[in-house]
Amino acid sequence: MFRVTLTHLILIYMAVLLGILCVVWFIGECVRFRQDKKMRRSMVVCDICGHSFADPSTRELLTCPSCGRLNERGSVREI
Ligand SMILES: [Zn+2]
Repeated sequence: MFRVTLTHLILIYMAVLLGILCVVWFIGECVRFRQDKKMRRSMVVCDICGHSFADPSTRELLTCPSCGRLNERGSVREI
């Protein structure tokens, strides 16, 4: 059996706690990234009026709810 001092015990506790927090943060970031990617995939920006709207369907041609023009689904770029 090896001896553990109170200082080492506190350091081990803090290291384990920090490791758990890092894992939770990493999982949260992965989930947020996937949700953001999914939302960006469904966003469409009209070529004429610039109105952006979400359409969860998989159709390639979408009608703009603002001006009524047909738009092709494309990737929305981040600014
Ligand atoms: Zn439009």
